[in-house]
Amino acid sequence: MTSIEIRNNSELFVPDNPSIGYIEGDGIGPDISRTAISVINAAVEVAYGGSKHIEWKKILAGEEAYKGTGQHLPQDSLEEIRKSIIVLKGPLTTPIGEGFRSLNVTLRQLFDLYANIRPVRYFPGVPSPVKNPEKMNMVVFRENTEDLYAGIEWKYNSEEAAKFRKFLADTYSVNLTDDTGVGVKPISRFRSNRLVRMAIKYAISNKRRSVTLVHKGNIMKYTEGAFKEWGYEVAAAEFKDKTVTEEEYLKAPEKYSDRIVIKDRITDNMFQQVLTRTEDYDVIATTNLNGDYLSDALAAQVGGLGIAPGANIGDVYAIFEAVHGTAPKYASMDIANPTSIMLSGAMMLKHIGWDAPSEILDNAITMAYKDQKVTQDLARVLNIKPLKCSEFGNEVIKRMKPIRQ
Ligand code: NAP
Repeated sequence: MTSIEIRNNSELFVPDNPSIGYIEGDGIGPDISRTAISVINAAVEVAYGGSKHIEWKKILAGEEAYKGTGQHLPQDSLEEIRKSIIVLKGPLTTPIGEGFRSLNVTLRQLFDLYANIRPVRYFPGVPSPVKNPEKMNMVVFRENTEDLYAGIEWKYNSEEAAKFRKFLADTYSVNLTDDTGVGVKPISRFRSNRLVRMAIKYAISNKRRSVTLVHKGNIMKYTEGAFKEWGYEVAAAEFKDKTVTEEEYLKAPEKYSDRIVIKDRITDNMFQQVLTRTEDYDVIATTNLNGDYLSDALAAQVGGLGIAPGANIGDVYAIFEAVHGTAPKYASMDIANPTSIMLSGAMMLKHIGWDAPSEILDNAITMAYKDQKVTQDLARVLNIKPLKCSEFGNEVIKRMKPIRQ
């Protein structure tokens, strides 16, 4: 038996030789995915000495799928993702042109992957644009299914936009000029609650100090402001004994020293706080658009997207992905940096309960950077000789050591 299963509604059952799907991706995708799979396999081997291994199942998507089937995301591939439950994914090109939705957004919505999780921390040896990058150790939980990404928008000269403007004028005396395109920003209690719930659970099980709700509620009161209210609400209703609001905490820090502090910050302030008071922030829970901007800005602080991992997780399915794009100019040259997808692979191993290989992989990447083993994106900044993508993978494998349990 090799299928991962969901039992009792949301418990993952993982056999010793699970079948896990992978989408190679476009552009640099095949180079970085192959390297990632080889280092993940090596970490599993070092951890379990052959008693467990992953049976990788290739899932077609993107340009390769289009060439074979005329579709970027064929039905068979969606079925394969459904069967696999857990998927490792390289970057996919978003076809340019009217009517195309991003394949990434489509996957997130089809499989209800409601949390985009982006851990951001510094690896010594990586060039960074800030003075103390080592202060960064945050995990962003970005809501993944609503907000302005819900795709409810109309072009300024469309019939729908005209109808919508007329409705606003007739019903609410809100007058928009004829050259106004419109978009809708839905933020719901259910989806805000479940995102913040996942962030708090993560903070508790990973012994984190705080969860910061990032919002722009001073301006958008009933969407961003509601997200903040619903975030506090879920903390108080479901995690009363494990959390404390920042206000209460500041009155008696000793009394609440073992609690997760729930605080909130307005988005623009948060962008400067992460630079000026980096160490004060830990787990972040935020809405879709805020999270999109903030997670890339945080990644830049510690050396860029090439080394930032990410996962899209729901109650059942989970897709672990490189967070950068397809970097087409480096396609098939074996020179891209595979760290993002390798670290996403480490997150995937942890997600299926294989903590030892996850840690082995993470440690080996850390050691490779300490030893200044880098691909061209970082080598050009450090002015040292670059490794190829696959060579970097081999350097990581060389540094793998069993974990003492
Ligand atoms: P991009 O592919 O991330 O590349 C932008 C630049 O970032 C590259 O030219 C390169 O910089 C650097 N870069 C990114 N990843 C790298 C890596 N692993 N190793 C070394 N350098 C790396 O962004 P884009 O050009 O805006 O997007 C290209 C395509 O990717 C688009 O079709 C977009 O829709 C898609 N995309 C997909 C995803 C996803 O699947 N999750 C995410 C974002 C974008 P230098 O030129 O400075 O060397």
